[in-house]
Amino acid sequence: MTLVMKFGGTSVGSSEAIRRTGNIISEAQSDWKDVVVIASAMNGVTDLLTQGALSASAGENENYRDISDSIRRRHYQVISELMPTIADGQQLTIELDHLIERFESLCKAVLVLGELSPRAMDAITSLGERMSVRLLAAYLRHQKLPAQAVDASGLIITDETFQAAMPLTDQTAKRCRSILCPLLDQGNVAVVTGFIGATQEGVITTLGRGGSDYSAAIVGRALEAEQVWIWTDVDGVMTADPRLVSNALTIEQLSYREVAELAFYGAKVLHPRTIRPIIENDIPLWIKNTFNPHAPGTEITRQPREDNGKIKAVTAIRQLSLINVEGKGMLGVPGIAARTFGAVAQVQVSVLLISQASSEQSICFAVPADSTQDVIDALEAEFNAELDRRDVDRIWAQEDVAIVTVVGAGMRGTPGIAGRLFSSLGNHPVNIIAIAQGSSECSISIVVEGKDTANAEQAIHKLIVNF
Ligand code: ADP
Ligand code: ASP
Ligand code: MG
Repeated sequence: MTLVMKFGGTSVGSSEAIRRTGNIISEAQSDWKDVVVIASAMNGVTDLLTQGALSASAGENENYRDISDSIRRRHYQVISELMPTIADGQQLTIELDHLIERFESLCKAVLVLGELSPRAMDAITSLGERMSVRLLAAYLRHQKLPAQAVDASGLIITDETFQAAMPLTDQTAKRCRSILCPLLDQGNVAVVTGFIGATQEGVITTLGRGGSDYSAAIVGRALEAEQVWIWTDVDGVMTADPRLVSNALTIEQLSYREVAELAFYGAKVLHPRTIRPIIENDIPLWIKNTFNPHAPGTEITRQPREDNGKIKAVTAIRQLSLINVEGKGMLGVPGIAARTFGAVAQVQVSVLLISQASSEQSICFAVPADSTQDVIDALEAEFNAELDRRDVDRIWAQEDVAIVTVVGAGMRGTPGIAGRLFSSLGNHPVNIIAIAQGSSECSISIVVEGKDTANAEQAIHKLIVNF
């Protein structure tokens, strides 16, 4: 019986948080045969490491040194508060100093070269998790709980897509078993770095920002864990982003599909890639609150027990552009869509939503705002001849739009939901620019102007609360 528990940045972000996290781990250790902990960097540390790297690449000599001082202080403060006298403390400070020196020397190399490659960025940003797991494992040992820090660079073997690496499933499973099982068999809690992996050659990669959730799912799949629990700073997945909608409620149960749609469309509570390894092994996933551990949390399974035709949650992604390819000459011409998305793929931009009018006279799709010009340039090059012939009339971007997505598997086959949704938006009033329904039919996404986003979220949330 293996339990994988992931603790996010706030759950390891202070002495008080680490104390709570330690209590949760020790309780789990008495209930489960094997406990694997995945830990994020202390909150804010990955941002600091990133800033340090960027400022070094911009030629600033001082900034990264200030950053390394503040990262050192954050960790040392916890050591002095939680384990002022232990022998472990000495070994721990040697290891932390070594990692902080590594940060400085990597930044110095970036400064000298004046160049920051994705590979260097991963080496630098990986350091936060490498520090936090050592700190947490030392604290657990201090609490008389056998624990061992493990760098996932030896466990999660990935491709070479730095900053968004994908795991190689079989090799990762083998490594996880051969390295973690002996540790667990000896009665240790394994405390593994979230967020990071390494290529087959051993070069450090990261799974993308927020990727520690994904690490937990990858290790859960590799070890065939019974359950994966994600510990964070809210009571579970909520009906809306609690930072934006003050009366958001915790959702008791969700399906894998629903939570996948929520995560894909911007709900920060879970990294969007987390669900795939979880689905493949049908692992029950829980989202729980480190700061309110006895709250029930959100249970995520293939088929939740009750599904009563509800809209369950609303989420939004801001700062997008809607790209339009228009032309009467496109009507019935095969291959326009394929060429459009081929051109977008070539500039490595991912499309978040597509909508095509049935007349085929226009295709529109949403992309992150910062890639707008790249996408327009790629499309103009691709359709150069069609633009000349006027088969394609116009390629243009509507800037500053957002996608607002409503999620709930029960919407499928429940008549009238879309009607209520659109009339509530109409009443607020929110102007709808485009609409798309998720292929799994458990989400409807609406494109609105940036300025209408909060209004749209609140209107839909009212509907959820009053359902
Ligand atoms: P962690 O560091 O634990 O991974 P994150 O900050 O990545 O935590 O994710 C948790 C945060 O996600 C919450 O504090 C909350 O502000 C935000 N959030 C956004 N949308 C939702 C939602 N629908 N349900 C719960 N939390 C959400
Ligand atoms: N520390 C990483 C980040 O801040 C990964 C994570 O917290 O999930 O993005
Ligand atoms: Mg997170």
